Amino acid sequence: MARGKKIYEGKAKILFEGPEPGTIVQYFKDDATAFNAEKKDVIDGKGALNNRLSEYFMTGLNQIGVPTHFLKRLNMREQLVRSCEIIPLEVIVRNFAAGTMSKRLGIEEGTQLPRPIVEYCYKDDSLGDPLVSEEHIAAFGWASQQDMDDILGLALRVNDFMSGVMFGAGIKLIDFKIEIGRIYEGDFQRLVVADEISPDSCRLWDIETGQKLDKDVFRRDLGNLTDAYAEVARRLGVMPKGTGPKPTLVN
Ligand code: C5P
Repeated sequence: MARGKKIYEGKAKILFEGPEPGTIVQYFKDDATAFNAEKKDVIDGKGALNNRLSEYFMTGLNQIGVPTHFLKRLNMREQLVRSCEIIPLEVIVRNFAAGTMSKRLGIEEGTQLPRPIVEYCYKDDSLGDPLVSEEHIAAFGWASQQDMDDILGLALRVNDFMSGVMFGAGIKLIDFKIEIGRIYEGDFQRLVVADEISPDSCRLWDIETGQKLDKDVFRRDLGNLTDAYAEVARRLGVMPKGTGPKPTLVN
């Protein structure tokens, strides 16, 4: 598939113009970054795994009627997506306390929350993606009240879907982040799940052992990141049996 001009290069992906108007080719890099790119590495195989896993989740969401930007996977590292205007928010859904929420509120990691909690961060690397309230979002015009209602609905549906899929694979969905895109269709606009859903943007713990199978393995130096992602892919049946490295995980 012929790729067009490079549109944007982020920390983990590169976007190219797609073959038809309104499409984009999303290329998954092997680069891993954490703590707003203070920690960096190149991790063999990560891009291909995230491409496959994101395809799996986005396809499942499309099939249950949760709209996403995903069209099809093109090859090991690339997928074709619909171009959309990204709303400048990181939408985080948490089922169990972890990460910045645990730090901020002094709640032990792994504590079950009374209900899923949705948080919004303003997407701005130079500011470190600060947590914002719906008041900020409305006052600065990042999204309308109607958008926020739709975003909350999408986030909770993605949470239900992802929690169920992960549960089936013996994995607890602790939290995740999604991004939302705006697609214009004539006079109408609709919101879709965009960017990627992968172990880079979720916290995934083995139900039995609590072993971490997500980017915290890299953030916290807990072992080999590709092994962790390959284990998620293997359990979901995303990687054909016998492929990928043998997991050697450290909790
Ligand atoms: O770091 P924090 O606890 O706020 O992260 C919550 C969830 O959002 C985690 O699953 C993390 O991987 C994801 N996240 C992300 N990109 C960011 C910030 C958080 O994917 N920039």
